[in-house]
Amino acid sequence: MIIIMTPGIQAASAEVEEVVRQARKHKDIRTDIHEVLGTTRSVTEIYLIGPTATVPSDDFAALPGVERVIRVSDRYKVIGRHRGLVEVMGFEYRGITFSQESFHVFPGLCAVDTREHVDQTFAALARHGIRTSRMGAYKPRTSPYDFQGHGKECLPYVFELAGKHGVQVIAMEVTTARHLDEVRDALRASGDATGVMLQIGTRNAQNFELLKEVGQQRELPVLVKRGMGITLEESLNACEYIASEGNRSIAFCLRGVKSHLGDPHRNLVDFAHVPAVKRLTRMPVCVDPSHSVGGRMEGADGLLDIFHATAQGVIAGANMVLVDFHPLPSKALCDGPQALTLDELPGFLEDVAIAREAYEKRVARVRGVAARAA
Ligand code: PEP
Ligand code: MN
Repeated sequence: MIIIMTPGIQAASAEVEEVVRQARKHKDIRTDIHEVLGTTRSVTEIYLIGPTATVPSDDFAALPGVERVIRVSDRYKVIGRHRGLVEVMGFEYRGITFSQESFHVFPGLCAVDTREHVDQTFAALARHGIRTSRMGAYKPRTSPYDFQGHGKECLPYVFELAGKHGVQVIAMEVTTARHLDEVRDALRASGDATGVMLQIGTRNAQNFELLKEVGQQRELPVLVKRGMGITLEESLNACEYIASEGNRSIAFCLRGVKSHLGDPHRNLVDFAHVPAVKRLTRMPVCVDPSHSVGGRMEGADGLLDIFHATAQGVIAGANMVLVDFHPLPSKALCDGPQALTLDELPGFLEDVAIAREAYEKRVARVRGVAARAA
């Protein structure tokens, strides 16, 4: 059961206290309070956790400051949209808002290799006013003999250079709780020069202990990548794991699914699921065209398949794009063949802007039709 307070009622208020007091009267029910940043307003939500079937919603609906009470199904209790009855679950981090309405591009290195390449990449982003990037320090590789990432050694210069170029949020994969500590320590040591969105890679979508670890901290937001060989529902449950531990600052990333039916692409591109995830859940949705397509194939029209896949995700309403760039892809230590060059960044951003504008026009059109019919 979710009790939604009227806007303006803070978590620390007499009204919320009263709801919690009422909830305590019921056996085995505990409460979890969250302030949710919606797209048009922010509200405090109180979750009643435990055997709520016998708890009458009327007890709460009549309390002062309560806007409404929603009974939720077992599926996606926290991250679910519950038939549109709850607000979307946006969040703000380092002054940047992430929601189902916002739009940000995260170009960057798949794997950090040299300080110089990080500097060049961030400098290119800064020239375009981009404050969000991706940087891999810990790389889970298929072969143990492949480059595993520089790990914590590179964090000081990555964070320092991000600060220098005004990059505020870096999506960075972590694969164990130790990495999480290393990232937090390095951020602190950098004087919080930048911020990190912890990335849960496709291979860890069912690493439940890791999901719980990132869920138990609220300092850093989380970007969960779809599991490559599991259902969408199973992947969304990865987000529910994180949210149920307390961290609601989560974005979900589509990155293709593993299937030979995806040939000649690295994975079968699944960006038609963007609206599905936005309908089922409250989270902003990201697409990763680089790991989906996996190469620099060019269409008969002259556009790279990565550009096409990006546009497909963006025109369907994606809120973030995670994309591999490298100053010298031939020298990249991981995923060079799918990296775009920094010279291609302006064209990529222009193409993305065309797709985003088309998406906004599509939404305006359908909203106009609905308004005229009302
Ligand atoms: C990545 O984004 O660097 C990555 C390894 O992606 P995925 O987990 O989707 O394969
Ligand atoms: Mn990669």
